[in-house]
Amino acid sequence: MLKGKTALVTGSTSGIGLGVAKALAAQGANIVMNGFGDVAGAQAEVAALGVQVIYHGADMSQPIEIAAMMAYAAEQFGRVDILVNNAGIQHVARVENFPPERWDAIIAINMSSAFHATRLALPAMQAAGWGRIINVASVHGLVASAEKSAYVAAKHGVVGLTKVTALENATSGVTCNAICPGWVLTPLVQKQVDAKAAALGLSNDDAKKLLLGEKEPSMQFTTPEELGALAVFFCSPAGNNVRGVAWNMDGGWAAQ
Ligand code: NAD
Repeated sequence: MLKGKTALVTGSTSGIGLGVAKALAAQGANIVMNGFGDVAGAQAEVAALGVQVIYHGADMSQPIEIAAMMAYAAEQFGRVDILVNNAGIQHVARVENFPPERWDAIIAINMSSAFHATRLALPAMQAAGWGRIINVASVHGLVASAEKSAYVAAKHGVVGLTKVTALENATSGVTCNAICPGWVLTPLVQKQVDAKAAALGLSNDDAKKLLLGEKEPSMQFTTPEELGALAVFFCSPAGNNVRGVAWNMDGGWAAQ
């Protein structure tokens, strides 16, 4: 379905971004990957699906590096048809104890990077008359949790950016939507499971159950594969008039 298209997925060396990159590659899209950690391993997993894969190591907190990544993608593949703004980090502390440099980093990586990549991707999408921008927000783009001020602020901001981008392009073939996962068992969340296990003297399994039980009525983690399938839906013809939604896949979290 996406043969001949190019998808750029930020933070795609791990977790949800890797899952979305693989789902889009399985539909035939060439992939521009980004992120840190096991770059070669992640790149090999996507390339195994038979598409062209390139990588750019832009630090998403740096607008100048984001611009270099977008230019590299355009130079290698002509243009970016599908932009998935996914890179993100977390830090947990009460507002009065929240380190200001962690606040700045979360706002830059989780929110401002989506603005920079979007503003740079839009002109080519508009000229082509087709484009998909998918922002991986969070259920924390819709509701709050204690000790996550920067994350909740950034994700609410991403949902706002999604709506404005969708409206500004509403009469064109360019759509913009957000995905709002609940708990997904990625390295980002495993750190929170580990912290709970250590603080309360629990096993890994009991800490996971406690984490789910506090927020997610289904008592199940959403998977990167399920989120990848939603991204594919947004890119399908059935998604042509889906504009500005913040679609939660959260096991009922925000329904409460
Ligand atoms: P993860 O830690 O597995 O992946 C994060 C990715 O972002 C990695 O590839 C990492 O290298 C990359 N990254 C981090 N900082 C970066 C930077 N400065 N520049 C470039 N890349 C950077 O985490 P994940 O859970 O897969 O998170 C992906 C997105 O999903 C995030 O935006 C997160 O907020 C969101 N999300 C996660 C959950 C969850 O439960 N895991 C729930 C809702 C939303």
